[in-house]
Amino acid sequence: MKIVNRNGLELCMFENLEDTGLVSHCFTTRIGGVSDGVFESLNVSYTRGDRKENVDENLKRLYVAMDFSQDKTVSGHQVHKTEVLDVDYDCCGKSITGYDGYITDKPGIVLCTFHADCVPLFFLDPVKKVIALSHSGWRGTAGRIAEATISKMNKLYGCSPEDILAAIGPSIGKCCFQIDRPVVEEFYRKIEFSKEYIEEDKSADGYFKADLWGINKRLMTEAGIIDKNIEVTDKCTMCSPDLFFSHRKMGEKRGSMAAFLSLKEF
Ligand SMILES: [Zn+2]
Repeated sequence: MKIVNRNGLELCMFENLEDTGLVSHCFTTRIGGVSDGVFESLNVSYTRGDRKENVDENLKRLYVAMDFSQDKTVSGHQVHKTEVLDVDYDCCGKSITGYDGYITDKPGIVLCTFHADCVPLFFLDPVKKVIALSHSGWRGTAGRIAEATISKMNKLYGCSPEDILAAIGPSIGKCCFQIDRPVVEEFYRKIEFSKEYIEEDKSADGYFKADLWGINKRLMTEAGIIDKNIEVTDKCTMCSPDLFFSHRKMGEKRGSMAAFLSLKEF
């Protein structure tokens, strides 16, 4: 993963997706917007309490930087579940509720999910020219949204997992993601191998640390994606408050980052 400056915005991008030349994508940081206070500066969410005109300007800068069309964006209210929506042009510009992942083969559509510690998962099948983007917090991770997304790409578009390129974006790392016993039990119940990615937190009795990047990557490889085709971030959102909003660090008073993924129009 690299961080590039476009139009004054610092944006995270993955080499494996960029190198195909087929998609435009990014994960936003806090850098380059006009919001202030807890929203400083590139908050891209209207639902956190930031002023509308600031979010408008932040998004305007982002759409210019990425050459995205705002009226072709698909986003919505995510619900920490594992439903993945197949998106067509008639979904654009609407706010959709109930989905944590989107899939499309339609060039120009901009898939968008919002994040502030939860894991963004990017998928591209360069053979079938299909993209998907999912929001995988701990509930989505335990619910196997990574697997659900790949399965839907296969069912709807005939994507072969061995062709798919994937990226796991900035989010809360194992260094910071502390969970309690009930959450651990839910992981163990839903994902057998999660035991290998959760360990006791030596600094806090009764607590554990979970590696959401590792679990999501393992879900991808078990679904057939080739290990070398998965790029994983090295940026923990909670460790880098200057660069990212973090729900765990800041609580409700914070802005949001977003992941964007779009098939180019040729
Ligand atoms: Zn951390």
